[in-house]
Amino acid sequence: MLHCGKHRSPVNTHLEPDADVTLITSTAPVATPTHGGRAKCLQRLVRLDLPVPRTVALSFGTVHGIAAGHMPEIGKILCQFAPNALLCVRPSSEDPDWGGPGAILNIGMNDAACAALADRIGGTAAQALYTKFVHSYAVHVARLDPDVFEDIEADGAEGLAESLSTYEEEAEEPFPTDPAVQLTEVLRSMARAWEGTTARLLRQAKGAPVDAGLGLVVQEMALGLGRGECGSGVLQLVNSDTGLPQITGRYLSQSQGREALEAGPKSLYLERDPRGPSLEELAPEAFAELKRQAALMRERLREEMQIEFTIENGAVHILDGVRVARSPRAALRIAVELARDGIITPQEAVMRVEPRALSELLHRQIAPDAERDVIGSGVAASPGAATGRIVFSASEAQASAARGEACVLVRRETSPEDVRGMHAASAVLTERGGITSHAAVIGRGLGLPCVVGAARMRFQIRRKVLVGEKGRTFREGDVITVDGTTGQVLKGAPKMTEATLDDAFTTLMSWADAERDIGIRANADTPADAATARNFAAQGIGLCRTEHMFFETERLTPMREMIFADAPDDRKAALAVLLPMQRADFTELFRIMEGMPVCIRLFDPPLHEFLPTDRAGLRDLAEALDLPISDVTRRVEAMGEYNPMLGMRGVRLGITVPEIYDMQARAIFEATLDASKDGAPVVPEIMLPLVSAKREVELVRTRIDAVAAAVRNERGRDFTYRLGVMVETPRACLRADEIAQHAHFLSFGTNDLTQMTYGLSRDDAGRFMSEYVSQGVFAEDPFHILDTEGVGELLRIGVARGREGRPDMTMSICGEHAGNAESIAFCRACGLDYVSCSPFRVPVARLAAAQLAIRDKIG
Ligand code: PEP
Ligand code: MG
Repeated sequence: MLHCGKHRSPVNTHLEPDADVTLITSTAPVATPTHGGRAKCLQRLVRLDLPVPRTVALSFGTVHGIAAGHMPEIGKILCQFAPNALLCVRPSSEDPDWGGPGAILNIGMNDAACAALADRIGGTAAQALYTKFVHSYAVHVARLDPDVFEDIEADGAEGLAESLSTYEEEAEEPFPTDPAVQLTEVLRSMARAWEGTTARLLRQAKGAPVDAGLGLVVQEMALGLGRGECGSGVLQLVNSDTGLPQITGRYLSQSQGREALEAGPKSLYLERDPRGPSLEELAPEAFAELKRQAALMRERLREEMQIEFTIENGAVHILDGVRVARSPRAALRIAVELARDGIITPQEAVMRVEPRALSELLHRQIAPDAERDVIGSGVAASPGAATGRIVFSASEAQASAARGEACVLVRRETSPEDVRGMHAASAVLTERGGITSHAAVIGRGLGLPCVVGAARMRFQIRRKVLVGEKGRTFREGDVITVDGTTGQVLKGAPKMTEATLDDAFTTLMSWADAERDIGIRANADTPADAATARNFAAQGIGLCRTEHMFFETERLTPMREMIFADAPDDRKAALAVLLPMQRADFTELFRIMEGMPVCIRLFDPPLHEFLPTDRAGLRDLAEALDLPISDVTRRVEAMGEYNPMLGMRGVRLGITVPEIYDMQARAIFEATLDASKDGAPVVPEIMLPLVSAKREVELVRTRIDAVAAAVRNERGRDFTYRLGVMVETPRACLRADEIAQHAHFLSFGTNDLTQMTYGLSRDDAGRFMSEYVSQGVFAEDPFHILDTEGVGELLRIGVARGREGRPDMTMSICGEHAGNAESIAFCRACGLDYVSCSPFRVPVARLAAAQLAIRDKIG
């Protein structure tokens, strides 16, 4: 048998330079986009002169060809290795997170190889290795039933013989002993597995493009078997959950004497440990070398790496180096520490953190002292906690999101058709599945609190009923909380605490802010939202939806009285009740924001949301108004609209019932003076919704100016304010030049603009959106990802015409798209001054915006 040692010659002696397969040398043409990350990384390890076994890389094109039946000449691969060498084949996708088929080890094993190996490591160990190979080949390559091999109890020569005969029975042909046949079949099976539908959907869920390629590497085995200290393991220098320094991994020692060798590997600690023997004690030099090599890789590959190694008679072999698997928290810490150590620049650290991954760090958790009314539990699959109304289908989740209502998506289990619904939901709860189930994987990817496998609850999806573990029944629309950190499901909305942001987060965000060239504000309607916005360093409030301030019972009744009032005096009386409430709301917002801009949008209600719908509501209102119930019912019917979203909404209400906006303007101005007394001077921004004509702005502006003058007079103090217009109708985009002449700023409301551009109801689109996207009618749900072609065209027109009308115009976007990285790129390219998104998306937007600026700088 030829020596199976390392061949680190940089010269490719057997292959044509343009061959489909490439021996990995320090100069070979190997690149991540063509051969995958593992192949490229192995080349880097070769360049670092680390003891890497000889390896051949197959490109994406070659592997794709193999799946289609075009096998490269197998002799060209085999001749790169010593005759009788045992080989392994590992996947090498462009991004390691996209996965790939499992590695197949010990290819080339047959009676002759087994006998040769027995001389080195003993007969039983060699036969065990052979048996393992037969099982793995049978299951993963020949695709035979795993159960029949698991049932084989005998070991040694008997176990091997039984495995070989079982193979022959099941496959109806003898086990292939020719290494060329084995390698051919392994390559074919791995190439085909990558092209399968399940594998494709799984990697697409992790962000892989449809046509993502797979490379394969064929490597000589360094067995880690022998008579001195031998074994195999993995080692990394940081903790994968926290990113903090900590040597972690595992080591399986084969060499605790011949008996242990034959009985199988023994798990040892890596570092010295009082609980048992460690690699550090058994092979201190190998352990020190491993640490040194990991540190060298960190420095030279500019990445925190996990090394896969074997130790053969005390000597270290590096089989592979992969990016350390990491939680989002660890990813951030690792990037920051690499930059702090001068290995990468702060800019690079900013580029390395996926904006969406931040959301896991940012999620609220249930407060430690909150009362927990637990109704069930399952696997804690994605951290953070969220509250919402129960929905039982993805389309209901989308409809709920379009209404701006938080929901919890409850499913038996999820499938790719549910992904859009998961995007729309605040949390996900499933009956089936474990930590790697579809719901769990996608949930973590989205940073969505997720509990899976809550099998002791009953999920009656068709009847829209969820039954808790103790039999309590919950229906669609009931509020529950999913705690993805503990795996509990709770009734109602327990008290939450904000995410704790550590020093690494703060540091990274400060680096990001230094690069960013577009402002980020938050949409915040409540003091809690405003506090979150401050916590996440939003540069102000870009949208405060005032109608959201009226849904509490003690406000809803005076609001309804005001809407129903026939006589001006009755209306005045109702508004007088509402004024101090609004003043207090605004004063608190101004105080929390401490002089930062606060943009308050005047009332924009679809009126039906404020009308009672059931008998009890009608009776309550009749009592409050002191009217017969029949009168109230008639009025409610008379006020009903066929299409409330396009009816008496926004500025239309402000024009027809101007006292409402007068009251709000007064509340804003009085709050401005109150909050300015003991803090930084406040310059409120007042925004008009659903404008479509310049005259609307003129009329409302005149009245607001009059209210401002009256408050100045009464209080004897001066203040200024800025008036803005929400551009959310196509006409407002087209007429932005003349509208701009009456406004200080324009803010694009892309939720309504999308609705009106497509003629697509925000509330009903969920019913067919999945179908539309799956049939490719829309590339994406346009309420989720801004349609840059149609809606975007209107936005571009609006920006250009608005600036024609008023060159110093401040322009922004406050629709849901504002928190989405792709949409931010578009808004930035259009020249918007800031984006305003929900508070929890502020850090995501800050990071995404910084990455855009850096990308531009580095070209
Ligand atoms: C919008 O339409 O984009 C918007 C921000 O307003 P709302 O969602 O409240 O209609
Ligand atoms: Mg709107």
